[in-house]
Amino acid sequence: MRTPTFKPYDPDQLSLLPPSLDELIPQNHVVRVVRSVIDQLNIDDILRKYKGGGASSYHPKLMLKILVYGYLSNTYSSRKMEQAVQSNIHYMWLAGMETPDHNTINRFRTEKLKGVLKEVFGQVVTLMVNQGLVNIKTIYVDGTKLEANANKYTFVWGKSIKRYKDGIKTQLEGLWKYAESIAKEELMDNDPTIYPELDAAQVSKTIASINEAIKDKPIDKKIKQKLNYAKRNWPKKMAKYNEQEKILGKRNSYSKTDPDATFMRMKDDHMGNGQLKAAYNWQISTSDQYIVNYDIYHNPTDTLTLPQHLKQYKDLYGQSPQVAVADAGYGSEENYEYMESEGIEAYVKYNYFHKEQKAKGKIKPKEAFRPQHLYYNKEGDYFVCPMGQKMTKQYETNAKTKSGFQQKQSVYEAKNCTNCPLRGVCHKSKTNRKIQFNWNLKRHKDKAKEKLLSEQGVAHRSQRPADVEAVFGNIKQNKKFTRFNLRGKDNVLIEAGLIALAHNLAKMARN
Ligand code: SF4
Repeated sequence: MRTPTFKPYDPDQLSLLPPSLDELIPQNHVVRVVRSVIDQLNIDDILRKYKGGGASSYHPKLMLKILVYGYLSNTYSSRKMEQAVQSNIHYMWLAGMETPDHNTINRFRTEKLKGVLKEVFGQVVTLMVNQGLVNIKTIYVDGTKLEANANKYTFVWGKSIKRYKDGIKTQLEGLWKYAESIAKEELMDNDPTIYPELDAAQVSKTIASINEAIKDKPIDKKIKQKLNYAKRNWPKKMAKYNEQEKILGKRNSYSKTDPDATFMRMKDDHMGNGQLKAAYNWQISTSDQYIVNYDIYHNPTDTLTLPQHLKQYKDLYGQSPQVAVADAGYGSEENYEYMESEGIEAYVKYNYFHKEQKAKGKIKPKEAFRPQHLYYNKEGDYFVCPMGQKMTKQYETNAKTKSGFQQKQSVYEAKNCTNCPLRGVCHKSKTNRKIQFNWNLKRHKDKAKEKLLSEQGVAHRSQRPADVEAVFGNIKQNKKFTRFNLRGKDNVLIEAGLIALAHNLAKMARN
Protein backbone atom coordinates (compact mmCIF):
# COMPACT_ATOMS: atom_id res chain seq x y z
CA MET A 1 0.00 0.00 0.00
CA ARG A 2 1.32 3.44 -0.96
CA THR A 3 1.73 6.12 1.74
CA PRO A 4 -0.55 9.14 1.16
CA THR A 5 1.24 12.46 0.82
CA PHE A 6 -0.15 15.70 2.20
CA LYS A 7 0.67 19.30 1.50
CA PRO A 8 2.70 20.99 4.27
CA TYR A 9 0.33 22.17 7.00
CA ASP A 10 1.38 24.10 10.10
CA PRO A 11 -1.23 26.55 11.40
CA ASP A 12 1.33 27.99 13.84
CA GLN A 13 3.84 28.76 11.10
CA LEU A 14 5.02 32.36 11.49
CA SER A 15 5.52 34.62 8.50
CA LEU A 16 8.62 36.71 8.20
CA LEU A 17 6.41 39.64 7.12
CA PRO A 18 2.73 39.79 8.11
CA PRO A 19 0.51 39.21 5.03
CA SER A 20 -1.18 42.32 3.68
CA LEU A 21 -4.97 42.10 3.24
CA ASP A 22 -4.60 43.88 -0.07
CA GLU A 23 -2.53 40.98 -1.45
CA LEU A 24 -5.26 38.54 -0.47
CA ILE A 25 -7.97 40.29 -2.49
CA PRO A 26 -8.01 39.55 -6.24
CA GLN A 27 -7.47 42.62 -8.43
CA ASN A 28 -10.85 42.25 -10.15
CA HIS A 29 -12.88 41.63 -6.99
CA VAL A 30 -16.07 43.67 -6.61
CA VAL A 31 -14.98 44.93 -3.19
CA ARG A 32 -12.28 46.98 -4.96
CA VAL A 33 -14.99 48.67 -7.08
CA VAL A 34 -16.97 49.53 -3.94
CA ARG A 35 -13.90 51.12 -2.35
CA SER A 36 -12.75 52.96 -5.45
CA VAL A 37 -16.19 54.41 -6.28
CA ILE A 38 -17.00 55.51 -2.73
CA ASP A 39 -13.55 57.09 -2.42
CA GLN A 40 -14.43 59.33 -5.39
CA LEU A 41 -17.69 60.60 -3.89
CA ASN A 42 -18.34 63.99 -2.38
CA ILE A 43 -19.92 63.26 0.99
CA ASP A 44 -20.33 66.82 2.26
CA ASP A 45 -24.06 66.24 2.87
CA ILE A 46 -23.24 63.31 5.17
CA LEU A 47 -20.44 65.25 6.90
CA ARG A 48 -22.88 68.05 7.74
CA LYS A 49 -24.81 65.56 9.86
CA TYR A 50 -21.91 65.32 12.34
CA LYS A 51 -22.18 67.93 15.10
CA GLY A 52 -18.48 67.91 15.98
CA GLY A 53 -16.85 67.63 19.41
CA GLY A 54 -17.25 64.65 21.70
CA ALA A 55 -15.78 61.21 21.05
CA SER A 56 -14.28 60.49 17.65
CA SER A 57 -16.46 58.79 15.04
CA TYR A 58 -15.73 56.23 12.37
CA HIS A 59 -15.15 57.88 9.01
CA PRO A 60 -18.42 58.11 7.01
CA LYS A 61 -16.75 56.65 3.91
CA LEU A 62 -15.71 53.60 5.96
CA MET A 63 -19.28 53.18 7.20
CA LEU A 64 -20.78 53.70 3.74
CA LYS A 65 -18.41 51.12 2.24
CA ILE A 66 -19.36 48.54 4.87
CA LEU A 67 -23.07 49.11 4.31
CA VAL A 68 -22.91 49.08 0.50
CA TYR A 69 -20.70 46.00 0.51
CA GLY A 70 -23.07 44.38 3.02
CA TYR A 71 -26.08 44.95 0.75
CA LEU A 72 -23.99 43.78 -2.20
CA SER A 73 -23.07 40.50 -0.51
CA ASN A 74 -26.61 39.77 0.77
CA THR A 75 -25.78 40.81 4.35
CA TYR A 76 -28.55 43.15 5.43
CA SER A 77 -28.38 42.88 9.22
CA SER A 78 -26.12 45.26 11.16
CA ARG A 79 -25.25 42.43 13.59
CA LYS A 80 -23.98 40.30 10.72
CA MET A 81 -22.00 43.27 9.39
CA GLU A 82 -20.45 43.68 12.85
CA GLN A 83 -19.32 40.02 12.72
CA ALA A 84 -18.06 40.46 9.17
CA VAL A 85 -15.78 43.42 9.99
CA GLN A 86 -14.09 41.16 12.56
CA SER A 87 -13.77 38.04 10.44
CA ASN A 88 -14.19 38.62 6.71
CA ILE A 89 -11.09 39.94 4.92
CA HIS A 90 -13.14 41.94 2.41
CA TYR A 91 -14.86 43.90 5.16
CA MET A 92 -11.60 44.15 7.14
CA TRP A 93 -9.85 45.57 4.07
CA LEU A 94 -12.69 48.05 3.44
CA ALA A 95 -12.80 49.10 7.09
CA GLY A 96 -9.01 49.39 7.42
CA MET A 97 -9.23 46.88 10.31
CA GLU A 98 -11.62 49.17 12.22
CA THR A 99 -14.44 47.30 13.95
CA PRO A 100 -17.62 49.37 14.38
CA ASP A 101 -20.33 47.53 16.30
CA HIS A 102 -23.88 46.89 15.11
CA ASN A 103 -25.33 49.90 16.95
CA THR A 104 -22.85 52.23 15.27
CA ILE A 105 -23.54 50.67 11.86
CA ASN A 106 -27.28 50.92 12.33
CA ARG A 107 -27.17 54.49 13.66
CA PHE A 108 -25.12 55.54 10.65
CA ARG A 109 -27.57 53.81 8.31
CA THR A 110 -30.72 55.38 9.78
CA GLU A 111 -29.45 58.77 11.01
CA LYS A 112 -26.53 59.87 8.86
CA LEU A 113 -27.90 58.58 5.54
CA LYS A 114 -31.40 59.93 6.11
CA GLY A 115 -32.36 62.41 3.39
CA VAL A 116 -28.89 62.42 1.77
CA LEU A 117 -28.39 58.94 0.32
CA LYS A 118 -30.29 59.78 -2.87
CA GLU A 119 -27.77 62.51 -3.68
CA VAL A 120 -24.89 60.06 -3.11
CA PHE A 121 -26.67 57.56 -5.35
CA GLY A 122 -27.04 60.27 -8.05
CA GLN A 123 -23.27 60.90 -7.92
CA VAL A 124 -22.58 57.19 -8.50
CA VAL A 125 -24.94 57.11 -11.50
CA THR A 126 -23.35 60.29 -12.92
CA LEU A 127 -19.92 58.66 -12.51
CA MET A 128 -21.14 55.66 -14.51
CA VAL A 129 -22.62 57.96 -17.17
CA ASN A 130 -19.24 59.72 -17.46
CA GLN A 131 -17.55 56.36 -17.89
CA GLY A 132 -19.97 55.52 -20.71
CA LEU A 133 -21.47 52.59 -18.79
CA VAL A 134 -25.01 53.86 -18.76
CA ASN A 135 -27.19 56.24 -20.75
CA ILE A 136 -29.82 57.89 -18.64
CA LYS A 137 -31.73 59.43 -21.53
CA THR A 138 -33.96 56.38 -21.97
CA ILE A 139 -35.45 54.91 -18.83
CA TYR A 140 -37.61 51.88 -18.12
CA VAL A 141 -39.96 52.34 -15.17
CA ASP A 142 -41.60 49.67 -13.05
CA GLY A 143 -42.63 49.00 -9.49
CA THR A 144 -42.95 46.10 -7.12
CA LYS A 145 -44.63 45.59 -3.77
CA LEU A 146 -42.11 44.53 -1.17
CA GLU A 147 -43.10 43.28 2.25
CA ALA A 148 -42.51 45.60 5.20
CA ASN A 149 -40.93 44.53 8.46
CA ALA A 150 -44.33 44.33 10.13
CA ASN A 151 -46.53 41.70 11.65
CA LYS A 152 -49.34 40.71 9.30
CA TYR A 153 -51.93 40.61 12.09
CA THR A 154 -51.45 44.24 13.12
CA PHE A 155 -53.67 45.95 10.59
CA VAL A 156 -55.79 49.03 11.13
CA TRP A 157 -58.49 49.44 8.49
CA GLY A 158 -59.88 52.83 7.51
CA LYS A 159 -63.36 51.37 6.94
CA SER A 160 -63.44 49.81 10.44
CA ILE A 161 -62.43 53.09 12.06
CA LYS A 162 -65.20 54.89 10.20
CA ARG A 163 -67.69 52.22 11.28
CA TYR A 164 -66.64 52.47 14.96
CA LYS A 165 -66.85 56.28 14.87
CA ASP A 166 -70.26 56.18 13.22
CA GLY A 167 -71.36 53.68 15.90
CA ILE A 168 -70.40 56.07 18.71
CA LYS A 169 -72.07 59.01 16.93
CA THR A 170 -75.33 57.09 16.39
CA GLN A 171 -75.45 55.90 20.01
CA LEU A 172 -74.68 59.39 21.28
CA GLU A 173 -77.49 60.80 19.14
CA GLY A 174 -79.79 58.13 20.59
CA LEU A 175 -78.89 59.17 24.14
CA TRP A 176 -79.40 62.85 23.24
CA LYS A 177 -82.84 62.15 21.84
CA TYR A 178 -83.73 60.21 24.98
CA ALA A 179 -82.55 63.16 27.13
CA GLU A 180 -84.52 65.59 24.96
CA SER A 181 -87.64 63.50 25.48
CA ILE A 182 -87.45 63.93 29.27
CA ALA A 183 -85.51 67.15 29.82
CA LYS A 184 -85.53 69.36 26.71
CA GLU A 185 -85.19 72.68 28.57
CA GLU A 186 -82.23 71.62 30.66
CA LEU A 187 -80.08 70.55 27.68
CA MET A 188 -77.18 72.79 26.74
CA ASP A 189 -76.21 73.37 23.14
CA ASN A 190 -74.13 70.23 22.52
CA ASP A 191 -76.45 68.42 20.15
CA PRO A 192 -74.27 65.70 18.53
CA THR A 193 -76.43 65.67 15.41
CA ILE A 194 -75.06 69.08 14.37
CA TYR A 195 -71.42 67.88 14.24
CA PRO A 196 -70.42 66.24 10.94
CA GLU A 197 -67.21 65.02 12.65
CA LEU A 198 -67.08 64.40 16.38
CA ASP A 199 -63.90 64.70 18.44
CA ALA A 200 -63.12 63.48 21.96
CA ALA A 201 -63.87 66.86 23.58
CA GLN A 202 -67.28 67.13 21.89
CA VAL A 203 -68.15 63.58 22.97
CA SER A 204 -67.19 64.39 26.61
CA LYS A 205 -69.11 67.65 26.56
CA THR A 206 -72.24 66.06 25.08
CA ILE A 207 -72.23 63.23 27.65
CA ALA A 208 -71.75 65.82 30.44
CA SER A 209 -74.68 67.88 29.07
CA ILE A 210 -76.93 64.80 29.00
CA ASN A 211 -75.92 63.79 32.55
CA GLU A 212 -76.51 67.32 33.82
CA ALA A 213 -79.90 67.60 32.12
CA ILE A 214 -81.28 64.33 33.44
CA LYS A 215 -79.65 64.23 36.88
CA ASP A 216 -82.87 64.83 38.78
CA LYS A 217 -85.10 62.84 36.45
CA PRO A 218 -86.19 59.26 36.97
CA ILE A 219 -84.37 57.36 34.25
CA ASP A 220 -84.08 53.81 33.01
CA LYS A 221 -81.32 51.81 34.74
CA LYS A 222 -79.93 50.61 31.43
CA ILE A 223 -79.60 54.18 30.14
CA LYS A 224 -77.74 55.14 33.29
CA GLN A 225 -75.33 52.24 32.81
CA LYS A 226 -74.82 53.16 29.16
CA LEU A 227 -74.10 56.78 30.09
CA ASN A 228 -71.53 55.69 32.65
CA TYR A 229 -69.88 53.42 30.10
CA ALA A 230 -69.93 56.20 27.48
CA LYS A 231 -68.38 58.71 29.89
CA ARG A 232 -65.53 56.31 30.73
CA ASN A 233 -64.78 54.96 27.23
CA TRP A 234 -66.13 56.94 24.30
CA PRO A 235 -63.91 60.08 24.55
CA LYS A 236 -60.81 57.85 24.79
CA LYS A 237 -61.96 55.74 21.86
CA MET A 238 -62.84 58.77 19.74
CA ALA A 239 -59.38 60.27 20.39
CA LYS A 240 -57.79 56.95 19.40
CA TYR A 241 -59.81 56.67 16.17
CA ASN A 242 -59.06 60.27 15.19
CA GLU A 243 -55.36 59.65 15.78
CA GLN A 244 -55.52 56.50 13.65
CA GLU A 245 -57.25 58.42 10.87
CA LYS A 246 -54.45 60.99 10.96
CA ILE A 247 -51.87 58.19 10.48
CA LEU A 248 -53.94 56.68 7.68
CA GLY A 249 -54.10 59.89 5.64
CA LYS A 250 -55.48 58.92 2.23
CA ARG A 251 -54.71 55.21 2.71
CA ASN A 252 -57.19 52.43 3.46
CA SER A 253 -55.02 50.61 5.98
CA TYR A 254 -51.76 50.61 7.93
CA SER A 255 -49.81 48.32 10.17
CA LYS A 256 -49.47 48.97 13.91
CA THR A 257 -45.86 47.72 13.89
CA ASP A 258 -44.88 49.94 10.95
CA PRO A 259 -47.50 52.70 10.58
CA ASP A 260 -45.95 53.83 7.27
CA ALA A 261 -46.60 50.41 5.69
CA THR A 262 -49.92 49.83 3.90
CA PHE A 263 -51.67 46.47 3.46
CA MET A 264 -51.35 45.47 -0.17
CA ARG A 265 -52.35 42.40 -2.13
CA MET A 266 -49.08 40.71 -3.02
CA LYS A 267 -48.55 38.49 -6.05
CA ASP A 268 -49.79 34.92 -5.62
CA ASP A 269 -47.49 32.59 -3.71
CA HIS A 270 -46.49 29.14 -5.05
CA MET A 271 -49.84 27.77 -3.76
CA GLY A 272 -51.70 30.37 -5.83
CA ASN A 273 -52.83 32.37 -2.78
CA GLY A 274 -52.90 36.12 -3.14
CA GLN A 275 -51.69 37.46 0.18
CA LEU A 276 -52.60 40.70 1.91
CA LYS A 277 -49.47 41.95 3.64
CA ALA A 278 -48.04 45.16 5.04
CA ALA A 279 -45.80 46.41 2.26
CA TYR A 280 -44.32 49.35 0.37
CA ASN A 281 -44.59 50.13 -3.32
CA TRP A 282 -40.99 50.31 -4.55
CA GLN A 283 -40.54 52.15 -7.86
CA ILE A 284 -37.37 52.11 -9.92
CA SER A 285 -36.16 53.38 -13.27
CA THR A 286 -33.45 51.48 -15.06
CA SER A 287 -31.25 51.96 -18.06
CA ASP A 288 -29.19 49.06 -19.40
CA GLN A 289 -30.18 47.22 -16.20
CA TYR A 290 -28.56 49.89 -14.00
CA ILE A 291 -30.90 51.52 -11.50
CA VAL A 292 -31.00 55.25 -12.21
CA ASN A 293 -33.78 56.29 -9.84
CA TYR A 294 -35.72 54.72 -6.96
CA ASP A 295 -38.48 55.71 -4.59
CA ILE A 296 -40.89 54.33 -2.02
CA TYR A 297 -44.65 54.94 -1.96
CA HIS A 298 -47.50 54.14 0.40
CA ASN A 299 -50.12 53.54 -2.27
CA PRO A 300 -50.19 50.17 -4.00
CA THR A 301 -51.12 51.41 -7.48
CA ASP A 302 -48.35 52.35 -9.90
CA THR A 303 -50.50 54.89 -11.77
CA LEU A 304 -50.25 57.52 -9.03
CA THR A 305 -46.49 57.30 -8.60
CA LEU A 306 -45.10 58.26 -12.02
CA PRO A 307 -45.15 62.11 -11.97
CA GLN A 308 -43.47 62.17 -8.55
CA HIS A 309 -40.91 59.58 -9.67
CA LEU A 310 -40.06 61.59 -12.80
CA LYS A 311 -39.84 64.85 -10.80
CA GLN A 312 -37.29 63.20 -8.55
CA TYR A 313 -35.32 62.11 -11.59
CA LYS A 314 -35.25 65.74 -12.76
CA ASP A 315 -34.09 66.94 -9.32
CA LEU A 316 -31.32 64.35 -9.34
CA TYR A 317 -29.92 64.93 -12.84
CA GLY A 318 -31.11 68.48 -13.62
CA GLN A 319 -33.24 67.34 -16.57
CA SER A 320 -36.03 64.93 -17.44
CA PRO A 321 -35.29 61.75 -19.39
CA GLN A 322 -35.86 61.95 -23.14
CA VAL A 323 -37.73 58.64 -23.32
CA ALA A 324 -39.77 56.82 -20.68
CA VAL A 325 -41.01 53.26 -21.18
CA ALA A 326 -43.55 51.69 -18.84
CA ASP A 327 -46.34 49.13 -18.84
CA ALA A 328 -50.09 49.66 -18.84
CA GLY A 329 -50.22 50.32 -15.10
CA TYR A 330 -48.85 53.82 -15.79
CA GLY A 331 -51.07 54.79 -18.74
CA SER A 332 -53.26 57.48 -17.15
CA GLU A 333 -54.23 60.90 -18.48
CA GLU A 334 -52.32 62.63 -15.67
CA ASN A 335 -49.14 60.67 -16.45
CA TYR A 336 -49.38 61.30 -20.20
CA GLU A 337 -49.99 65.01 -19.53
CA TYR A 338 -46.98 65.27 -17.23
CA MET A 339 -44.68 63.55 -19.70
CA GLU A 340 -45.93 65.72 -22.56
CA SER A 341 -45.36 68.90 -20.54
CA GLU A 342 -41.79 67.77 -19.79
CA GLY A 343 -41.07 66.85 -23.42
CA ILE A 344 -40.64 63.16 -22.50
CA GLU A 345 -41.37 60.70 -25.31
CA ALA A 346 -43.82 58.31 -23.68
CA TYR A 347 -43.73 54.68 -24.72
CA VAL A 348 -46.33 53.91 -22.10
CA LYS A 349 -49.10 51.39 -22.69
CA TYR A 350 -52.68 52.04 -21.66
CA ASN A 351 -55.19 49.43 -20.51
CA TYR A 352 -56.72 47.55 -23.46
CA PHE A 353 -53.60 48.14 -25.58
CA HIS A 354 -52.86 44.41 -25.70
CA LYS A 355 -56.53 43.51 -26.15
CA GLU A 356 -56.71 45.88 -29.12
CA GLN A 357 -53.63 44.30 -30.70
CA LYS A 358 -54.98 40.79 -30.18
CA ALA A 359 -58.36 41.69 -31.66
CA LYS A 360 -56.65 43.03 -34.83
CA GLY A 361 -59.51 45.45 -35.53
CA LYS A 362 -62.26 42.84 -35.04
CA ILE A 363 -64.99 43.88 -32.63
CA LYS A 364 -66.91 41.31 -30.60
CA PRO A 365 -70.73 41.79 -30.76
CA LYS A 366 -71.02 42.67 -27.06
CA GLU A 367 -68.27 45.29 -27.42
CA ALA A 368 -69.88 47.02 -30.39
CA PHE A 369 -71.91 49.20 -28.00
CA ARG A 370 -68.85 50.62 -26.24
CA PRO A 371 -68.36 54.39 -26.83
CA GLN A 372 -64.95 53.86 -28.48
CA HIS A 373 -66.55 51.63 -31.15
CA LEU A 374 -69.41 54.00 -32.07
CA TYR A 375 -69.12 56.14 -35.20
CA TYR A 376 -68.13 59.72 -34.38
CA ASN A 377 -68.75 62.71 -36.61
CA LYS A 378 -66.07 65.29 -35.91
CA GLU A 379 -67.64 68.25 -37.73
CA GLY A 380 -71.00 67.83 -36.05
CA ASP A 381 -69.49 66.61 -32.73
CA TYR A 382 -71.90 63.73 -32.33
CA PHE A 383 -71.81 59.92 -32.07
CA VAL A 384 -74.11 57.57 -33.93
CA CYS A 385 -75.55 54.68 -31.93
CA PRO A 386 -76.01 51.14 -33.38
CA MET A 387 -79.61 52.00 -34.30
CA GLY A 388 -78.40 55.02 -36.28
CA GLN A 389 -79.54 57.64 -33.77
CA LYS A 390 -77.47 60.76 -33.28
CA MET A 391 -76.00 61.15 -29.78
CA THR A 392 -75.33 64.86 -29.42
CA LYS A 393 -73.16 66.59 -26.85
CA GLN A 394 -75.10 67.79 -23.82
CA TYR A 395 -72.51 69.17 -21.41
CA GLU A 396 -69.02 68.72 -19.98
CA THR A 397 -68.14 67.45 -16.51
CA ASN A 398 -65.04 68.03 -14.45
CA ALA A 399 -63.98 65.25 -12.12
CA LYS A 400 -61.00 65.00 -9.83
CA THR A 401 -58.90 61.83 -9.71
CA LYS A 402 -57.56 60.38 -6.43
CA SER A 403 -54.42 62.45 -6.87
CA GLY A 404 -56.40 65.66 -7.44
CA PHE A 405 -55.92 65.75 -11.24
CA GLN A 406 -58.81 67.45 -13.11
CA GLN A 407 -60.38 65.33 -15.86
CA LYS A 408 -62.78 66.79 -18.39
CA GLN A 409 -65.47 64.47 -19.81
CA SER A 410 -67.93 65.32 -22.59
CA VAL A 411 -71.41 63.84 -22.14
CA TYR A 412 -73.42 62.74 -25.20
CA GLU A 413 -77.04 61.57 -25.12
CA ALA A 414 -79.26 59.61 -27.52
CA LYS A 415 -82.54 61.34 -28.47
CA ASN A 416 -85.00 58.56 -27.81
CA CYS A 417 -84.31 55.02 -26.60
CA THR A 418 -87.95 54.16 -25.93
CA ASN A 419 -89.02 50.97 -27.70
CA CYS A 420 -85.55 50.38 -29.17
CA PRO A 421 -85.17 46.63 -29.78
CA LEU A 422 -81.46 46.82 -28.83
CA ARG A 423 -82.06 48.54 -25.52
CA GLY A 424 -81.38 45.47 -23.35
CA VAL A 425 -77.91 44.96 -24.76
CA CYS A 426 -77.14 48.65 -25.30
CA HIS A 427 -77.63 50.08 -21.80
CA LYS A 428 -79.37 49.50 -18.49
CA SER A 429 -80.54 53.01 -17.60
CA LYS A 430 -84.24 53.91 -17.52
CA THR A 431 -83.72 57.12 -19.48
CA ASN A 432 -82.01 57.63 -22.86
CA ARG A 433 -78.47 56.32 -23.18
CA LYS A 434 -75.71 58.72 -22.11
CA ILE A 435 -72.01 58.22 -22.78
CA GLN A 436 -69.03 60.06 -21.35
CA PHE A 437 -65.96 60.66 -23.44
CA ASN A 438 -62.55 61.96 -22.37
CA TRP A 439 -61.14 63.49 -25.54
CA ASN A 440 -57.82 64.46 -24.06
CA LEU A 441 -57.19 60.90 -22.87
CA LYS A 442 -58.19 59.63 -26.31
CA ARG A 443 -55.62 61.98 -27.89
CA HIS A 444 -52.91 60.69 -25.54
CA LYS A 445 -53.84 57.07 -26.17
CA ASP A 446 -53.75 57.55 -29.95
CA LYS A 447 -50.32 59.17 -29.63
CA ALA A 448 -49.07 56.36 -27.37
CA LYS A 449 -50.45 53.72 -29.72
CA GLU A 450 -48.62 55.21 -32.69
CA LYS A 451 -45.37 55.25 -30.74
CA LEU A 452 -45.79 51.75 -29.32
CA LEU A 453 -46.46 50.27 -32.76
CA SER A 454 -43.50 52.00 -34.40
CA GLU A 455 -40.22 50.12 -34.92
CA GLN A 456 -38.71 51.98 -31.97
CA GLY A 457 -41.79 51.20 -29.86
CA VAL A 458 -41.59 47.47 -30.57
CA ALA A 459 -37.89 47.52 -29.58
CA HIS A 460 -38.68 49.38 -26.32
CA ARG A 461 -41.53 47.00 -25.52
CA SER A 462 -39.32 43.95 -25.81
CA GLN A 463 -36.47 45.65 -23.91
CA ARG A 464 -38.67 46.76 -20.97
CA PRO A 465 -39.06 43.37 -19.22
CA ALA A 466 -35.42 42.52 -19.89
CA ASP A 467 -34.31 45.85 -18.47
CA VAL A 468 -36.37 46.76 -15.44
CA GLU A 469 -38.17 43.52 -14.51
CA ALA A 470 -34.88 41.62 -14.64
CA VAL A 471 -33.47 44.00 -12.03
CA PHE A 472 -36.32 43.27 -9.60
CA GLY A 473 -35.87 39.57 -10.38
CA ASN A 474 -32.18 39.77 -9.54
CA ILE A 475 -32.82 41.64 -6.28
CA LYS A 476 -35.54 39.25 -5.12
CA GLN A 477 -34.20 35.93 -6.39
CA ASN A 478 -30.42 36.25 -6.33
CA LYS A 479 -29.99 38.76 -3.57
CA LYS A 480 -32.85 37.21 -1.55
CA PHE A 481 -34.07 40.69 -0.70
CA THR A 482 -37.77 39.97 -0.33
CA ARG A 483 -38.58 42.01 2.75
CA PHE A 484 -37.39 45.36 4.09
CA ASN A 485 -35.44 45.01 7.33
CA LEU A 486 -36.07 48.49 8.71
CA ARG A 487 -39.31 50.18 9.71
CA GLY A 488 -40.68 53.56 8.64
CA LYS A 489 -40.73 55.08 5.15
CA ASP A 490 -37.50 57.08 5.63
CA ASN A 491 -35.58 53.98 6.68
CA VAL A 492 -37.11 51.83 3.96
CA LEU A 493 -36.04 54.48 1.43
CA ILE A 494 -32.46 54.20 2.76
CA GLU A 495 -32.56 50.43 2.29
CA ALA A 496 -33.90 50.84 -1.26
CA GLY A 497 -31.00 53.24 -1.93
CA LEU A 498 -28.38 50.87 -0.49
CA ILE A 499 -29.74 47.99 -2.58
CA ALA A 500 -29.72 50.22 -5.68
CA LEU A 501 -26.11 51.27 -5.03
CA ALA A 502 -25.07 47.67 -4.39
CA HIS A 503 -26.82 46.47 -7.54
CA ASN A 504 -25.14 49.14 -9.69
CA LEU A 505 -21.65 48.56 -8.28
CA ALA A 506 -21.93 44.79 -8.71
CA LYS A 507 -22.96 45.29 -12.33
CA MET A 508 -20.21 47.84 -12.84
CA ALA A 509 -17.68 45.31 -11.52
CA ARG A 510 -18.99 42.63 -13.90
CA ASN A 511 -18.61 45.01 -16.83
S1 SF4 B 1 -80.95 51.92 -26.86
FE1 SF4 B 1 -80.81 54.02 -27.59
S2 SF4 B 1 -78.64 54.36 -27.87
FE2 SF4 B 1 -78.93 52.16 -27.75
S3 SF4 B 1 -79.15 51.48 -29.84
FE3 SF4 B 1 -81.18 51.87 -29.09
S4 SF4 B 1 -81.61 53.98 -29.63
FE4 SF4 B 1 -79.43 53.68 -29.86
